[in-house]
Amino acid sequence: MTYSRTATRLGIENRPGTEAMTNMERLVRELLQPLRELYGKPIRISSGYRSVALNRTVGGAANSQHLKGEAADCTVKEAAELLEVLKNSGLVFDQAILYRKRNFLHLSLKKEGNRNWIVDNG
Ligand SMILES: [Zn+2]
Repeated sequence: MTYSRTATRLGIENRPGTEAMTNMERLVRELLQPLRELYGKPIRISSGYRSVALNRTVGGAANSQHLKGEAADCTVKEAAELLEVLKNSGLVFDQAILYRKRNFLHLSLKKEGNRNWIVDNG
C-alpha cells in the first residue's frame, strides 16, 4: 500500500502518518480484502498511499484520496470484471473509478459519508 516504483526511482519520501495508516487499514479490512476474496483472483495495488511530493510527481489531483490513505488503484486482468464483482457485493465504498484503457479500478473508502459512486473514465 505504500510501495511506489516512482518514489523509489526518484528518492521521494512516501511514509504515511498515523491517520493515513488508520485509513489504509480500514480500506484493506473493509473493502479490498473482502473484494479480493469475492473476486478470487490476484489484485495488484499499483498505487496506494501517496505523500504530497509523490502525488505531485505522478500528476494526482490536489485533493486526491490517495493522500489520506483512503484510495488504492487495483490492477487486475480485467478491471471491468472487478467492478462487476464490486457492484454485486453489497460492500460499502466511496468512489469506484474504472479506467478501461489502462485497465485498473480506483477504489476509495472514507471513515464516514461514503457515496458508492461509480465513474467510468474510459
Ligand atoms: Zn487512484
